[in-house]
Amino acid sequence: MLVNLNEVPANTDRKNYDVCIAGAGFAGISLALKLESYGFDVLLLEGGDIEYSDESQAVYEGQNIGMSYFDLDAARLRYLGGTSNHWAGWCRPLDEWDFAKHDHIPDSGWPITKSELDSYLGAASEFLEIDVEYPDSLLENSKGLLKKIHFEVKPPVRLAEKYHDYFERSDKIDLFINANLVDIKLTDSTQAVSAFECANFANPATKFNFSAKFFVLAMGGIEIPRLMLNFTNQNPKGIGNSNDLVGRYFMEHFHAFGGWYVTEKGKWPFDEKESHLAPTPQFLSEQKIANAGMRIGSFSVADDKTLYEQVKQVICEQDLIRTFVSNFRNINCVVGSQPDSGGPILIASEQVPNRNSRVSLSDSQDKFGHRRAVLDWQITDLDRDTIKRSTIGFGQYFAEQDYGNVKLIDWMLDDTTAVPGVDEDLWLGAGWHHMGTTRMSETSATGVVDKNCRVFDTENLFIAGSSVFPTGGHANPTLTIVQLSLKLGDHLRDKLQSS
Ligand SMILES: Cc1cc2nc3c(=O)[nH]c(=O)nc-3n(C[C@H](O)[C@H](O)[C@H](O)COP(=O)(O)OP(=O)(O)OC[C@H]3O[C@@H](n4cnc5c(N)ncnc54)[C@H](O)[C@@H]3O)c2cc1C
Repeated sequence: MLVNLNEVPANTDRKNYDVCIAGAGFAGISLALKLESYGFDVLLLEGGDIEYSDESQAVYEGQNIGMSYFDLDAARLRYLGGTSNHWAGWCRPLDEWDFAKHDHIPDSGWPITKSELDSYLGAASEFLEIDVEYPDSLLENSKGLLKKIHFEVKPPVRLAEKYHDYFERSDKIDLFINANLVDIKLTDSTQAVSAFECANFANPATKFNFSAKFFVLAMGGIEIPRLMLNFTNQNPKGIGNSNDLVGRYFMEHFHAFGGWYVTEKGKWPFDEKESHLAPTPQFLSEQKIANAGMRIGSFSVADDKTLYEQVKQVICEQDLIRTFVSNFRNINCVVGSQPDSGGPILIASEQVPNRNSRVSLSDSQDKFGHRRAVLDWQITDLDRDTIKRSTIGFGQYFAEQDYGNVKLIDWMLDDTTAVPGVDEDLWLGAGWHHMGTTRMSETSATGVVDKNCRVFDTENLFIAGSSVFPTGGHANPTLTIVQLSLKLGDHLRDKLQSS
């Protein structure tokens, strides 16, 4: 059933659901479908409408005070399907390395293993309409330091288009649109949630309470902490925030332009237009860095002579990487040899957990009277090292194999230069990935949710989405988000069946 809360009278009777989920994006919809498959009654609350509206999107406006970042209302979408309405469709599961604790990465380590999520890879892939195979392999002659990896990049699934009619027909999932979560009602002991309170856009002062046995927050990695910090009526520190962890440890993926390469005829070692490489666990441990992926673009001279000439000029005019890496060969510019192909080197790297990188609240308010988000995105020396050393590692391999010339951009090679943040002129970006702000951990002293994504301070409140990631690896997060939602669906099934 699909209901527009703008059109519902305030005193209408409502049923008591098994599970109530706030947020109908990847996390919320995959969880709702999983619970429906077990026959449970599910309420799905979507703050926006079935299509984009300025009114709903304006609730996402916020402020950036840290490293340069995208405007917060441009970094996600607030209507049915959430950010699935314009995501790019790149998918890859996290590596085993990402789940482990590493001495050189403070606050690393998940309380679950990769194998606990692997069993959900097939169903998550089906939901995202992607293939399941990730044929990674060691890169030949790389001394065990680099591997070739695979991303699934299919036409991106758009959840609003795909599921709108389905929800209209469903008799197990009630989808309410224009149903904005505006408060969480706790029981007198404040140990459990008794209702999600919602408001519509037509009359924001009127409140609607929805009750259920279990409640789930699935509004994305910035909105979940923002609202948990705003909900102070029964607990002055906010929901789940007794240890001042909600909103902290915000992590992104750096998407940085690392430089250019040019190869000579017959020397390009890869088959595809774009190849994906990554450092192996051996490389990461030896270099004491976090995880990273390298996206090596390719164009052939026959395809694009002008671009090739420009690249060649860049490489020939500037110092080569060999001045920084002692065992580089004496590579001349490609003039005189037979150029074949070249392209950009792009790095997509992990940001390590950092307590000071955080979402907090501003003094300005949204339509529902909640304080807006302030993002203070901060990175550490370890993040700089990860970007630089993984890029240099690729350049070194390329030169040692005599594939051609590599020119890294200046800040990659200069220890005194800060990573500039999102800067289109420098081709620097981030992934639009919002992770870590309600991190999963063994104890409430170090995290907001437990290994089953339950908020430590409550009995029946759970979180779905990348805000629970304790670390983020380098892979795009959505496949892992869906795997975690499906796992949460099984956990809630067990709880409901035993209650
Ligand atoms: C341009 C772009 C490209 C991207 N490309 C990729 C990619 O290639 N691969 C990848 O893995 N990831 C990609 N991402 C990231 C990906 O979109 C997110 O990881 C994913 O959408 C997160 O899913 P979610 O369900 O947690 O949150 P969202 O998709 O943001 O959904 C949250 C939902 O909650 C609703 N909501 C918000 N507040 C409330 C409230 N108060 N009450 C009720 N409902 C509320 C919203 O309207 C929305 O429907 C991209 C993101 C962007 C912006």
